[in-house]
Amino acid sequence: MNNPLPEHAPLTQFPVHHDCLYVGGMPLTQLAERAGSTPFYAYDRRKITERVALLRQHLSREIQLHYAIKANPMPAVVQHLAGLVDGMDVASFGEMSTALDTALPPDAVSFAGPGKSTHALRSAIAAGVVLNLESAREMELVARLGQSMEIIPRVAIRVNPDFELKASGMKMGGGAKPFGVDAELVPDMLQQLQGLQLDFMGFHCFAGSQNLNEAALCEAHQRTIQLLIRLSQRAPSPIRMFNIGGGLGVPYFPGDRRLDIAPIGDNLHVLAEQVKQYSPHTRIALELGRYLVAEAGVYVCRIVERKVSRGRIFLITDGGMHHHLAASGNLGQVIRKNFPVIIGNKVYGEEREIASIVGPLCTPLDILADQSPMAKASPGDLVAVLQSGAYGLTASPIEFLQHSRPMELLV
Ligand SMILES: *Cc1c(COP(=O)(O)O)cnc(C)c1O
Repeated sequence: MNNPLPEHAPLTQFPVHHDCLYVGGMPLTQLAERAGSTPFYAYDRRKITERVALLRQHLSREIQLHYAIKANPMPAVVQHLAGLVDGMDVASFGEMSTALDTALPPDAVSFAGPGKSTHALRSAIAAGVVLNLESAREMELVARLGQSMEIIPRVAIRVNPDFELKASGMKMGGGAKPFGVDAELVPDMLQQLQGLQLDFMGFHCFAGSQNLNEAALCEAHQRTIQLLIRLSQRAPSPIRMFNIGGGLGVPYFPGDRRLDIAPIGDNLHVLAEQVKQYSPHTRIALELGRYLVAEAGVYVCRIVERKVSRGRIFLITDGGMHHHLAASGNLGQVIRKNFPVIIGNKVYGEEREIASIVGPLCTPLDILADQSPMAKASPGDLVAVLQSGAYGLTASPIEFLQHSRPMELLV
């Protein structure tokens, strides 16, 4: 018996009319005219709004939602999200500036990242954002800088947990990591903190990313809360914030399923009740990046050449890995798999074929789709790479081969 080949999860976020994909309520062909040139990224604001609404529907009221700007720092996207979420997580001076340009209060912005520069720390202290401390040295430095500016810095401790997020695309905690303070060292650090002029807010813990396993996520959230409750017993003042990370993934590859939010919300509800009993004024925040924006985005490029080489069809486009490293398979993939890639103006097509879509760079790494089923296409047709709203342009080597920078549109 043949096992059927794994397929992409049904991607129904963008409607199709007359065989053309609609993004932001507009046919892709018209959107390409609006962009003025290809390639471009388009992010559909209604899809972002719907995603936040879906989460709010499943999460109890006391769970706060934060946006991790790293996933998509386009200022218009960040501004749009600022009206929907409770806070933002930033990891650089630049991201912090983008967050502070929104209407969110500065104490709703938290700044994590190993190796923050003194320049960034001073600015963060002056702005009043929450600094997630990643070492005892950083804590002392922050206290000293605060003293010199006569401002009491707001701080939280980022904890490197003593467990891992199982079945995760990217592990960010557990074991030896450059991120955060090892959980077993946190009690000493809390002791030291008592002698310093710091406004202690609470803890931050981020176990991992791109997880599509509900049971693994629930377990990680539970272990994170247990760990943070344990650590807060050593804290010098009541804990105001547990930022428990997130890790919610989206389906990118054949065989990936879409995550079911209901059990995750139910589990967080139980955990929030436990925290409430122990410490009624502690807020719990979930920090999400890709889950909020990935599915709202599409990368669009145009076919410039159709070539048949020794029986294989290659569609060569004006865009590629220099704009979308993740879709090319070169952003941390061990085995290359195809993103969902379609011919945007011929979604189903009159004829279908197996073809590879490649970019214009002189490297065999510049692949957008490797031998994938799609509508038969020719020069002038539009290629749409779905699931592209996160870790797209800003996670790509745009200088490589010196092509021009694609537009980004929020529609
Ligand atoms: C990258 C990052 C995130 C966002 O991860 P996603 O997988 O996009 O949700 C959240 N928190 C921290 C600390 C991060 O470094």
